[in-house]
Amino acid sequence: MSKQARAAVVYEPEGKFAIEDIELDDLHSGEAYVKIEAVGVCHTDMNMQFLLGMPAVVGHEGTGIVEEVAPGVDYVKPGDRVIISWPTCGTCPKCLVGRLDLCEMQFPLNFGGRRADGTQTIKLKGRPIHGSYFQQSSFATHVVVPVSSLVKVAGDIPAEVRAAMPCGIMTGAGSVINAFAMGPKDDVVVFGAGAVGLSAIMAAKVSGVYPIVAVDIHQSRLDLAKELGASHAFNAREDDVVAKLAELRPTGFRYAIDTSAKQSSITTAVQCLGSGGVFGVLAVPEPQVPDYSVGTLAFPKGIRLQFILAGSSTPRLFIPQMLEWYKNGRFPVDRLVHTFPFEQINEAWGESASGRVIKPVLLME
Ligand SMILES: [Zn+2]
Ligand SMILES: [Zn+2]
Repeated sequence: MSKQARAAVVYEPEGKFAIEDIELDDLHSGEAYVKIEAVGVCHTDMNMQFLLGMPAVVGHEGTGIVEEVAPGVDYVKPGDRVIISWPTCGTCPKCLVGRLDLCEMQFPLNFGGRRADGTQTIKLKGRPIHGSYFQQSSFATHVVVPVSSLVKVAGDIPAEVRAAMPCGIMTGAGSVINAFAMGPKDDVVVFGAGAVGLSAIMAAKVSGVYPIVAVDIHQSRLDLAKELGASHAFNAREDDVVAKLAELRPTGFRYAIDTSAKQSSITTAVQCLGSGGVFGVLAVPEPQVPDYSVGTLAFPKGIRLQFILAGSSTPRLFIPQMLEWYKNGRFPVDRLVHTFPFEQINEAWGESASGRVIKPVLLME
């Protein structure tokens, strides 16, 4: 049976959201209905709207309770708590070797507006609209999802913490743990102390990395970075960051991570790395002509450059790992989160865009 729900519908790219009644399609094989308890708000929800057919329902960081499963589904049952991660095809060469972050069907699954089988999951006033955003479209009270995207959650974890996990937090922490496997012998400089950068800092702390340096232009974020595990914090507007980093590590750092996407950070990162250093890029760099001086600096040091998607994570392994750290007080994600009622989705987006809130999360009730 189809299901009634309420969703935040956007009618034109980057327009305001309007909460509307929608109808969700019947479940197909391998799917579940999930009642959403909370959903994170992420820049991707707004920045990628130009790719979508309109009207659309976006939202890709949902968490909630399984209400119903299609026949034959055995990973989850009604009543299970889940986090909805990103979709994968399960059959491409990357999926087959466990590199779910590089699934070759990612683009159509995330932005195509349809299920993998080409059908649509959401109707507005009787007409199909662009749904299946990251195969979830979770700015809604209920969603249709492929069970392969679900991660079961054990124990009592606040909904807003669960909602924060599957995207930016996993990207930041996963780069440290999965992509680079950093440990006590390592050091790192993190450019940008937003949700992604702060998560990288928390994970570096969990891994015993020292020093952990945060670089940002907002003092409040640098103060928070120090509370969450940064051993040093430099303000790129006030400090001579290159000189400070050279003072700390005269032979250069082993790792630098950029979450800021700024050309200036990329140049500083390459300057501060030592020979054989590794530069992880977690945000799409500014779309300007590349500054070739970066190559001139990087080449003689043999620096390795790596772009990292989703923290090179396998969600069913890494999300439970992060939740375990959270329960043990070692990964205080709640410090980044600010909650809003679902109805205030436009305000939540405004706060996120302005940078006043690090990680907005919408609560459905
Ligand atoms: Zn996201
Ligand atoms: Zn795949």
